[in-house]
Amino acid sequence: MIQNNIRVRFAPSPTGYLHLGSARTALFNWLYARHTGGVFVLRIEDTDKSRSKKEYLDEILEDIKWLGLDWDEGPIFQSERIKKYTEYATKLLDAKLAYREGEAIIFKVPPSRVVKINDMVHGEICFNTDQIKDQVLMKSDGLPAYNFACVIDDHETNITHIIRGDDHISNTPKQMLFYEALAIPAPCFAHMPLMMGKDGAKLSKRHGGVSVSEYKREGFLPDALANYLLLLGWSPGEEREIISLEEAAGLFDVKNLSNVQAKFDIDKLRWLNGEYMRNMDTKSLAKLLKSRSSSETDNTYFEKVVELYKTRLKTLSEFTDMTENFFKDDFKIEEDAKKKMDKFLKDENTKKAIMDFTKELEKSNTFTHGEIENICRKTAKKFNIKAASLIHPTRAAISGRSTGAGIFEMMEVLGKERVIERLKRIFSHPL
Ligand code: GLU
Repeated sequence: MIQNNIRVRFAPSPTGYLHLGSARTALFNWLYARHTGGVFVLRIEDTDKSRSKKEYLDEILEDIKWLGLDWDEGPIFQSERIKKYTEYATKLLDAKLAYREGEAIIFKVPPSRVVKINDMVHGEICFNTDQIKDQVLMKSDGLPAYNFACVIDDHETNITHIIRGDDHISNTPKQMLFYEALAIPAPCFAHMPLMMGKDGAKLSKRHGGVSVSEYKREGFLPDALANYLLLLGWSPGEEREIISLEEAAGLFDVKNLSNVQAKFDIDKLRWLNGEYMRNMDTKSLAKLLKSRSSSETDNTYFEKVVELYKTRLKTLSEFTDMTENFFKDDFKIEEDAKKKMDKFLKDENTKKAIMDFTKELEKSNTFTHGEIENICRKTAKKFNIKAASLIHPTRAAISGRSTGAGIFEMMEVLGKERVIERLKRIFSHPL
C-alpha cells in the first residue's frame, strides 16, 4: 500500500564518524520511506560548532551512500537555520511560556504533569514533568539547544515518524512539551533498543569496531553490512537472513521493529560477508580486490586466483595474506607448513618420490589440475606411499601454508614454471 504522506528523517551530528548504531537508524528510516513510497529527509545537526567537523560530515555522507541509501530532501543544515529557531523561541517568550536568563531563552516546564508517549516499539511510556527541569531553548551564545532545534525542524519538514535509538527516549517528553506549547502536532515515535556487543556491553572496538568506515576498511561489502544491520532489530521472517535492501524495503514495517536489545556479532557479520563474496561474480569481485591491492598482475591471472579463493574469504582484506604466494616468490612460510615439510623429507623414500613427482611434472604439457592429479597419484603408487605424502610437502613448498585452496587447482593457476622452481627449492634451500 502506498502511503505517500510518510516523511522520515535521519539527523546525524557531524561530531564523529558514522556509528554502526546510527547507520542502522538511517537504514530503518530509509526502509520505511521506501516501503511506503514516502520521503526520507537528511538533516545535519551541526549547531555544536566546536565539535562539528567537515571531515566527519563528508565521511557520514559518503558512508550512507556507500551502504546503498539515498535521501530525497536535504541535507538541511541546522547551522543555517538559527534565525528560525530564534523566531520560534521568541514566540514562546511572548506567550510567557519561556523566560530569559541573560541572553539565554529558557522554557518553563509546567509542574506535576504526566507526558505520555505512545511509542511504536515500546508502547505507552509516561513521564512526570516534576522530573524534568526547565529547558534551554536558545543558549546564551545564540545557538539552539538540540531538543528545541529538533522539534522545529521536524515540524517544518513535516516529519510524520521519528525512528531513532533508545538513547533519545529521555529527550522525547521535553520535545513533546515544546510541541504542545507551540500548538503543533507531534509526530509518531519509534525508539529502537540500542545495539550492544555480543557480551551485552556497549559496542566498542573490541567487538570489531564501532564506525562504518572501520568495516569498510576491513573489507566488508556494503550490501553485507547493510543486510546485517537490518537483521539487528528487524526480521524479514521465515528465518531468512540474506536479503537485499530492495527486498527488505518491500517487507519492512515499523510495527515489526523489535523491542529486544540487538547484539552485534562480528562472526555472524563475517559469515554473511563471506556469503555475499561467494555469490559475487568473479570478475566484479576481482576488480574490487585489485582496487585494494598494489598488484600489477594481469587481470586473467588475478581472476583465476580470486576464483580459487572466493569461497574461502570472509573479508576483502583477507585476500592479500591468503594469496601472497600467487604474487611473489618470497612468500611467508608458516611454522606449521615447515614442520610438515620436515616430517616428510625425513623419509628417504618420500624425498625420492617428491623428486620424481617434480620430474614428471616437468614433462607435462598441459599442466591442468586433472593431469597434475594423475601424475601425483601415479607417483604415489610407484613409491608405495599415500598421495597425501606428496600433497602436504608440495603444498608447503608452493604456498608456505598447510591449508588453502585445492592443491591441484593451485598448481594449475600458479603455472608449471613456478611450481617446478618451488619444488626444486625444497632440496636446494630447505624451508
Ligand atoms: N543528532 C542526533 C543524534 O545524532 C539526532 C537525534 C534524533 O534523531 O532526534 O543522535
